[in-house]
Amino acid sequence: MNLKAVAKRVHKILPSAKVEEYRGCVRLTGEADSWDVVYRCGVAAVDKGSLGVLNDIRLKGFCEKVKAPSLRDGAIDGATPDVLVIGGGIMGCAAARELSKLNVDVLLVEKANDVATGASSRNDGCIHVGIDLHKGQQKLHYVLRGNEYYTQLAEELGCDLKRWAQTFMFSTVWERRIIAPLMLLKGRLLGIPRMRFVTPEEMKKLEPTPPSWLTGAVYMATGGVVSPYKVTIALADNAVENGARISLNTMVEGMDVENGVIKAVRTNRGTVYPKIVVNAAGAFSDIIADMAGDRTFTIHPRKGTDLILDKKKAYYALSSFARSYFAPLPASAREDNNAAVGHTKGGGVMRTVDGNVLVGPNAIEQPYREDTTTNLEDILAIIKKQKVAAEELSTADIITYFSGVRAATYEEDFVVRRGIFTKNIIEAAGIQSPGITAAPAIACDIRDWVKDMLGATDKADFNPYRKHTPRLADADDETRARYIASNPDYGEIVCRCEEVSKGEIIDALESPLKVCTVDGIKRRVRPGMGRCQGGFCSPLVVKIIAEHEGIAPEQVLKGDEGSYILFGNTKNNGEGGVK
Ligand SMILES: Cc1cc2nc3c(=O)[nH]c(=O)nc-3n(C[C@H](O)[C@H](O)[C@H](O)COP(=O)(O)OP(=O)(O)OC[C@H]3O[C@@H](n4cnc5c(N)ncnc54)[C@H](O)[C@@H]3O)c2cc1C
Repeated sequence: MNLKAVAKRVHKILPSAKVEEYRGCVRLTGEADSWDVVYRCGVAAVDKGSLGVLNDIRLKGFCEKVKAPSLRDGAIDGATPDVLVIGGGIMGCAAARELSKLNVDVLLVEKANDVATGASSRNDGCIHVGIDLHKGQQKLHYVLRGNEYYTQLAEELGCDLKRWAQTFMFSTVWERRIIAPLMLLKGRLLGIPRMRFVTPEEMKKLEPTPPSWLTGAVYMATGGVVSPYKVTIALADNAVENGARISLNTMVEGMDVENGVIKAVRTNRGTVYPKIVVNAAGAFSDIIADMAGDRTFTIHPRKGTDLILDKKKAYYALSSFARSYFAPLPASAREDNNAAVGHTKGGGVMRTVDGNVLVGPNAIEQPYREDTTTNLEDILAIIKKQKVAAEELSTADIITYFSGVRAATYEEDFVVRRGIFTKNIIEAAGIQSPGITAAPAIACDIRDWVKDMLGATDKADFNPYRKHTPRLADADDETRARYIASNPDYGEIVCRCEEVSKGEIIDALESPLKVCTVDGIKRRVRPGMGRCQGGFCSPLVVKIIAEHEGIAPEQVLKGDEGSYILFGNTKNNGEGGVK
């Protein structure tokens, strides 16, 4: 490690920072007035010879209020699982499912009241091909394997996967002549299959409205699109079907570590004594690694905002493949780039598996791990940038927008490994983009490591197929009639925009991982995802949940803890209790 060179770079940004070596890592301490300074010091501290950057420079006056469950009980107190998975995003749920293929006792804890509430529900759902990655990166290794694995996974879980290609478009002749061949060569060297150059004429056959400036494109046929939250929920459901336990509203608060071994993990619902801990805590994964004494990295949260357009605008991104626009874009669009642009794919315009158009994301460095607010300035900037590639875009077509936070490390790579300083931890940390693509492949390695560490055997009766429930919007008339005859609730349409029936909502309320919030139902079967954004169906969904669960409508939550919708005849005390 060249600590002198690192210190020189860091001191140019923050002269008062202390730069030292700590257990093979570069450690920074001190105080800064702006997050930009903290972030830039972290970037400057990256050194190939070190294990990673521990950026402990404090931002003056900063304190983030972390969303923590208020619940305190002993629901899992004294549990002795073979494996404790921390985090119910796609990483944790994929790990739990792969681990349920073994004869081991798996417990997953998630601090929110559902799985898929962090980055895994707030992203584009692109199954990436890996063209923006580099040899030697963990990201590349897992993206190539994950991309391939998705075909089998989607079939087993009953999730939609559209193998819509990704395109990288060129606006000038020199880009077409120089960048396109280099990109095809890079693709070959990285091992990305089925890439080819397409002329503007060929693009017209694939898409009727390619941008007028198009001089050619690189077409990447192995791209794809999934619904990331549906995949995450399906992984969780199938893990539960195969014996894994999931404890929601359960936050890891501390650990007891002795001689490099985690002895106990303390949560708000009791203390757990696992043999192995899997750290899949997303934007909090460095905090969990620190608790375990195994931290070699720092998460610097990077927010991304996406816009969702009405389904009727799906012609922007056509039936044959998702129309994703990565840089390079014409100069007029490049000026909108922000500080982190070197670490994004530049965003794009694409069609989701559910038929909406997604525009974005951008990338903004921020100190907050859970701030998913959106703002007008970002929305307008995204439209302005992507309008260059999809000239028809208009703010009038936006039906909603959201932000997610990427768990980026300063090394800009995943941290997937067995513990270095702690024997019984597996890190699945820093899973920033393209984590949706990579997580199922990472989970396979986690399964193999656990098998090796515990000497576990394969479960003979593992069932990879998740229980199938009907989706009426996708069914033909004859099939619908059959479902309705078997259960009249399938004939009662609750959400007209998305054609979701009462029967499907009840199916969701009876799924292996039961979640009874309006947002939980929305993520599972889509009522409220359409043009009216739940304006008409939300009261009906509340009523169905209340009736099914035998609770007062005032007790039904929209999403997070405390998010009551109704205050009426039954008095809600605002703390989860109804008087
Ligand atoms: C805007 C945006 C667009 C993206 N687009 C794509 C894309 O198109 N394709 C792609 O492949 N990837 C994409 N990604 C990346 C992808 O979303 C992430 O890599 C992936 O979701 C990370 O999954 P995860 O399980 O590691 O983290 P998360 O989904 O954030 O899950 C971590 C979980 O851990 C829980 N947790 C944290 N601390 C604790 C604790 N102490 N106790 C208990 N639980 C805890 C959290 O509540 C959270 O639910 C995108 C990301 C963003 C933000």
